[in-house]
Amino acid sequence: MAVAIHCPSTPAELCFGMVTRASKLNATMPDSYSLTDTIAAISTPPGRGGIGIVRLSGAQAASIAMRLVSLRHPLEHARARLANVLDDEGDHASRIDEALVTWFAAPNSYTAEDLVEIAAHGSPVVLGLLLRRALELGARLAEPGEFTQRAFLAGRLDLTQAEAVRDLIEAHTLTQARQAASQMGGALSRRIAPVKQSLVELIALLEAGIDFAEDDVELTPAIEIASRIEQLTPPLAALEASFARGRIVHDGLTLAIVGRPNAGKSSLFNRLVERDRAIVTATPGTTRDLVTERISLDGIPLELVDTAGLRGNLGDGAHEHLEEAERLGIRRSREALADAALVLIVLDATQPLNEEEYKLLLAVQDRPAIVAINKSDLNGVKTPVDGISGVPALATSALTGEGIPALRERILALATGGAAEEPGMLTSLRHHQAIQTALSALADAAQANTNAIPHEMILLDLYRALSALDALTGQTTADDVLNLIFSKFCIGK
Ligand code: GDP
Repeated sequence: MAVAIHCPSTPAELCFGMVTRASKLNATMPDSYSLTDTIAAISTPPGRGGIGIVRLSGAQAASIAMRLVSLRHPLEHARARLANVLDDEGDHASRIDEALVTWFAAPNSYTAEDLVEIAAHGSPVVLGLLLRRALELGARLAEPGEFTQRAFLAGRLDLTQAEAVRDLIEAHTLTQARQAASQMGGALSRRIAPVKQSLVELIALLEAGIDFAEDDVELTPAIEIASRIEQLTPPLAALEASFARGRIVHDGLTLAIVGRPNAGKSSLFNRLVERDRAIVTATPGTTRDLVTERISLDGIPLELVDTAGLRGNLGDGAHEHLEEAERLGIRRSREALADAALVLIVLDATQPLNEEEYKLLLAVQDRPAIVAINKSDLNGVKTPVDGISGVPALATSALTGEGIPALRERILALATGGAAEEPGMLTSLRHHQAIQTALSALADAAQANTNAIPHEMILLDLYRALSALDALTGQTTADDVLNLIFSKFCIGK
């Protein structure tokens, strides 16, 4: 299979680090599989639906597809053709469905191979039959993510783009989908490309100085090396910083709602969720278990955890009168409080702070937390909004809705730490680690240059930075990492 390898237009030896994708072709696959196989899978989710698609990719894709269906017109690149789905070949074949068959000729397809999509009705029986017959006719069942993996190996997508395909499929909010789509379009790769280009140029400069030392080629002055390294750092540092927002757009956050029984936690939870999910009653201690709900706050997925009320310290024997179920609920609340990234403490405005609430406020002082002084619609407010142990507070009423938009805004600010959305943000730990490695290698190179260490040694640091950037886009990514990434895809993608 022809594989496009993009090496920078610099001396050939610089391509040493760029282990070609071709050499990885079979390395990432289980032994018994080959990337020259024609693969097949049902690409639509399991179950019944209006449409179901069987996808075939590889040299035999079209010839196998033509034996699965009877076409009224010959296949033509990127043209949907009406066809009858047959249950067999030959005279006893009967029609079991009608389908649209689209053929994409290599290299102008998702996988860059010949690819056929048979869009039949979404019946598991029809799709199962199509797949079974495709396998009988010589196709192999696709591994999870193998269509995208082939696109990556063919150089149609780099690794960040391939990862974005998975992120797009798994997106829960529009913001997540938008972010994944922009990465799929190469936004992250485009941010890295110019840095990589400058880094490669610097490497070439130092290599030339070493290679041609006998020919009196002048060594690059330290001041120039310093300035070139310095220019590489800010774009990478900006990328690293984008992870603060990118991470939460990608992974979301958990917000634990805690407070004494009857303060209005469940009511606030329902206000934030915008429907009645948690049970609200006037009897203290009704929420015995954790109620969780995923909401989207300005596109950021937020898991709200409504906890049972915190009633004093458990374990000191003071609450033996509590029912077992409620005690368990309180213990779970404490665990949820410890695990959550954000904490919303709900106080009852009509009640003075009790000891337990003081302790809670002290405990969350150094954490991203916010206090809602609820029931502020009632007369006889006893808890003032300001000066609550340094934890920011605002007045709310779950009953009237007062203060709820402000509460949402404060939660959002707390979640994002003020970091704004930007194109090509880092969203995964893998990307973040690669950028950190590149930055630390560049810092080492700068230090070595300051200490007048020989260029051979500075080059080692620069190559380390380059290899980290290459690993990010997939040019030098270890096979086990590649396998891990693609194994998380669904079959058929
Ligand atoms: P939780 O035990 O902390 O979850 O409290 P709930 O949400 O179950 O509310 C306890 C009681 O307080 C219910 O009767 C609610 O209707 C009432 N309540 C909750 N929030 C407010 C509020 O902002 N104003 C008023 N007046 N009543 C509220």
